Amino acid sequence: PPDVEQLGRATWTFLHTTAAYYPERPTPTQRANMLSLIRALPLLYPCSHCADDFGEDMKNNAPDVSGRAGLSRWLCERHNEVNVKLGKEKFDCGKTDERWKDGPTD
Ligand code: FAD
Repeated sequence: PPDVEQLGRATWTFLHTTAAYYPERPTPTQRANMLSLIRALPLLYPCSHCADDFGEDMKNNAPDVSGRAGLSRWLCERHNEVNVKLGKEKFDCGKTDERWKDGPTD
């Protein structure tokens, strides 16, 4: 089975970076594709309990694919739900650009 921690870091990197470079004003096609990408996660993510919990969280918090800012915030909040579940510190969602767009990466 995959290493859940390594898979998680790689997946969050992909998702937050993709959100950071998502258009401010996406076309309907771009929105539809982003929604498909997000909705596929609970169905395909290869950590089944992670996928199930993410799917449950998404039922209460619909994806915001309206634009870069909203998507980045929505993802940050979803990641924070996982952080809290795992006993990790919450991330400041005002700093997503600094971490994933403008600033250096770790
Ligand atoms: P990660 O949580 O992987 O974060 C990577 C980097 O992202 C951090 O170093 C920080 O710079 C930045 N970051 C942290 N929080 C935020 C935020 N809120 N917004 C933006 N940037 C942030 N693991 C489990 O054990 N159980 C689960 O149920 C589980 N569910 C998951 C569900 C999904 C959809 C994903 C993608 C991963 C899940 N994981 C789960 C993995 C888990 O979230 C972590 O990726 C893993 O534990 C490694 O954690 P980490 O401390 O290295 O940093």
